[in-house]
Amino acid sequence: NGERTGARLLSDGDQLRIGRTIFKFLSGDHIERAYHDEIFRLMSTDSLTGSFNRQHFDRELERLVAHSQRYGRALSLAMLDIDHFKVINDSHGHVFGDRVLATLGSVVQTAKRAQDVFCRYGGEEFALILPETALAGALHIAERIRGHVAAATYEFDGKSHAVSVSIGVASLGAEESPEALIEAADARLYEAKRGGRNRVAPTPAT
Ligand code: GH3
Ligand code: MG
Ligand code: MG
Repeated sequence: NGERTGARLLSDGDQLRIGRTIFKFLSGDHIERAYHDEIFRLMSTDSLTGSFNRQHFDRELERLVAHSQRYGRALSLAMLDIDHFKVINDSHGHVFGDRVLATLGSVVQTAKRAQDVFCRYGGEEFALILPETALAGALHIAERIRGHVAAATYEFDGKSHAVSVSIGVASLGAEESPEALIEAADARLYEAKRGGRNRVAPTPAT
């Protein structure tokens, strides 16, 4: 709180400076902590789909790539793109398209594992960061998500449309940058598109 200190019991609201970083100690049920949590949630969430937004994705991918390389841990990335989404918009309108995006967001939230970081990368493209996961495991999760998305019902105001996603998966190499990982997953995504859509690339072993 602006004075030098040694070992000391922290009280609610105490501010502690270490180098250039300032920490504020707030206990679990403190109203200010709830306020900060809400600000963080608003800043990192995409309101339409409930997934994390692009800024959060960029930060998390950079952090997780650095962590995985430092400790020699596996990390995978899946890029998802809705198949023929323009047709969905053109047939039923953008409001319908938005509802598809929102429903798909909750379908993926349910199908992914708790530790996987699901983000809206832009438009109708999503990214899923899979910490502690090598390629085989990531392909398994991606295939499960693809199946859940294809099996869900997208029906609004009496209109319905089948929805599927194509997914490209890549795993982190020793020297790879976050950008290179995104490019690798993207290249796989376009393989999945070229291969006929509603599929995961590379093809998971059965
Ligand atoms: P492909 O299978 O090759 O991916 O075909 P596609 O029609 O999905 O092609 P593409 O990915 O290029 O199309 C993206 C479309 O998504 C174009 C854009 O109008 C629409 N879109 C992007 N963001 C939104 C959004 O927030 N809401 C709605 N309704 N549409 C969106
Ligand atoms: Mg797209
Ligand atoms: Mg698309």
